[in-house]
Amino acid sequence: MERSDTVRSAHPPKYLAGAICLDFANTLSGRMDPAPIERIDSYAALVAWAAQGGLLTEPRAADLLGEARGRLKEAQTAVARAAALRAAIHQAFAARAVGRVPDPDPITDINAALAAAMRHRRLEVEDGRVAWGWEKTPDALDQMLWPVAQSAADVLTASDPVRVKECPGIGCGWLFVDRSKNGSRRWCEMEVCGNRAKARRFKTRQNAPNRGARE
Ligand SMILES: [Zn+2]
Repeated sequence: MERSDTVRSAHPPKYLAGAICLDFANTLSGRMDPAPIERIDSYAALVAWAAQGGLLTEPRAADLLGEARGRLKEAQTAVARAAALRAAIHQAFAARAVGRVPDPDPITDINAALAAAMRHRRLEVEDGRVAWGWEKTPDALDQMLWPVAQSAADVLTASDPVRVKECPGIGCGWLFVDRSKNGSRRWCEMEVCGNRAKARRFKTRQNAPNRGARE
């Protein structure tokens, strides 16, 4: 089944996981569903996701799209790198969500992205203080992946362990950080997966179409 652009734009990516690396993992939506929804299906989609998530300023996003027009191959490589990093993040944190230590493979892949990112880590002086920043360059088409890799490393290594969960909504599989005091956050979004579960419990089933993956 093809999903039209209108369907996609009516359901924009969301930033509710509590860590940008997990929001990125969730851009492949409905992983358990036979027809998952791919939101990063082009370089433009990758840039749009990063801009909406605050990883790129609007002018930088426009610069990158301009650059990409003349460097199609590199833009494709950036999308492939994004997919590889996303798969590694999902694998590592899905393990973490069930209390397992991540396998070496996703850690190796995150390390590769991290090594590429760290070459561009910079100190910046802003408002009278020194802070971590990133090299400001329009050249690196994959620069939106730098803070994503950094975020994955930060969450994996946090000294105060971060409680990561995988949404149990049917066909969902979104990852998120549970920051509730008593560890009670269950759903990616109460309004989506939580309410669907509630609706199933109260059985309106016959007339309601059986929705698969969350969108
Ligand atoms: Zn969910």
